[in-house]
Amino acid sequence: MWDQRSQGETLWAQRSQGETLWAQRSQGETLWDQRSQGETLWDQRSQGETLWAQRSQENGIVFPDLPKITSHIGGYSHVKRKLFGPDHQVFRDAFRTFVEREIKPFHRDWEKEGIVPRELWSKAGEQGYLCPWLPEEYGGSDVDFSYAAIIIEELSRAGASGAAFNLHSDVVVPYIYHCGNDEQKKRYLPGCASGEIVTAISMTEPNTGSDLAAIQTTATLEGDHYLLNGQKTFVSNGHLSDLVIVVAKTDVNADPPHAGVSLLLVESSFPGFKRGKRLEKIGMKAQDTTELYFEDCKVPAANLLGHEGAGFYYLMQQLAQERLVVAVAAVAAARSVLDMTLEYVRERKAFGKPIGRFQNTRFALAEIATEIELGEAFVDRVMEEHIAGESLAKEASMAKYWTTEMLKRNTDRCLQFFGGYGYMAEYPIAQAYLDARVQTIYAGTTEIMKEIISRNMDL
Ligand SMILES: Cc1cc2nc3c(=O)[nH]c(=O)nc-3n(C[C@H](O)[C@H](O)[C@H](O)COP(=O)(O)OP(=O)(O)OC[C@H]3O[C@@H](n4cnc5c(N)ncnc54)[C@H](O)[C@@H]3O)c2cc1C
Repeated sequence: MWDQRSQGETLWAQRSQGETLWAQRSQGETLWDQRSQGETLWDQRSQGETLWAQRSQENGIVFPDLPKITSHIGGYSHVKRKLFGPDHQVFRDAFRTFVEREIKPFHRDWEKEGIVPRELWSKAGEQGYLCPWLPEEYGGSDVDFSYAAIIIEELSRAGASGAAFNLHSDVVVPYIYHCGNDEQKKRYLPGCASGEIVTAISMTEPNTGSDLAAIQTTATLEGDHYLLNGQKTFVSNGHLSDLVIVVAKTDVNADPPHAGVSLLLVESSFPGFKRGKRLEKIGMKAQDTTELYFEDCKVPAANLLGHEGAGFYYLMQQLAQERLVVAVAAVAAARSVLDMTLEYVRERKAFGKPIGRFQNTRFALAEIATEIELGEAFVDRVMEEHIAGESLAKEASMAKYWTTEMLKRNTDRCLQFFGGYGYMAEYPIAQAYLDARVQTIYAGTTEIMKEIISRNMDL
């Protein structure tokens, strides 16, 4: 008889039975190994946190019951992902433990407070979970976007929507790295990796969001500084931020208008930087979303990011990764929603049987599982190309549009299976439903994604 399991941080184990030593290992999310010992064949598996085994002694192979779903990936088989290897699994397990310890137990309280504590950022920085892609000279670990994907997936899986690490690490900080000069990189990047500096990006204004070239915030050069004036809204991390990339017009007469758009690195300590109220949202309640005001805010000319008038171009370049971040999160959130629904419909009974046995339930969940696999396969493919350095504005828009609509649609369908309980705020499915709603809106709406895609169709 033998057994092994993976729990917490240790993913694999080995045992000896008499003189025979055997082992198992985990690869990506699917773990398996198979050996023969004399004429006895045995096999064992672990999927996510659930480990199951089968063994044959004299009686031949014994097939285990299907594992009970405890969380996320696990409980039903899914297509093996090629993007992740054993090193990724070690990183995933460590970050999952961080989320379990440092985020999950407190998230409900943070939702009530409308913000996460500043210390969470320092803890994440200390552990190397902020900007791991940065080169070591700036405090990063020099890894590729697949590690960002793990952080995104694990936060989504846990429903930890308050910790906007990916907005900071994979949306804002890349602007500094790719468009900033050496002096700006040295000044800001190490703090971004350590968690001393929390960042935000501020494009949207009360009167314009999708139509970015129509922004009214202005930055006028006066000697060695810009005078920044305007109002911004819906700024994620706006309250916590120490450094904000502000999108402003440095030339209000530019033709076309987007040629007058520039990006400025604005520290929250600059005179004239004012935070407005934290906005009350229907979901993602622990993430602070804030208004910002600039009243003759003095920004050193040295804090211009890249070149004057090139801001729109930089945004178009970097927005592809932002959309990929949202797409990765959407697939992981959909998987998490499916898992919690499977667990519920197996337990909940109506008319003398689990509601999972009704054909309507089985077909709906089969459709949802299929859509998740299709979405994940496409997003993984886009990620691979993105990591290889391909420019993927169209594909990232496709991924963002389809996966977020898929998440919204299927979270609604899954909530239905919870009946009245699905409408109760304390149920994670209700939270997931509310968190899902914004995904088709921010980082470019579904309609804008379709605009971008169709622009490439020679219409
Ligand atoms: C929780 C949250 C967090 C956010 N975080 C940030 C942030 O950190 N930084 C930031 O700058 N912004 C942020 N935003 C803003 C977000 O990116 C915008 O809300 C979004 O881009 C849409 O802009 P809008 O709200 O002005 O809507 P509008 O642009 O007014 O659009 C309204 C509707 O019209 C549609 N529409 C617009 N143009 C077209 C068109 N050409 N064709 C067809 N339909 C069209 C839109 O799709 C939408 O359905 C956040 C928003 C939310 C809700």
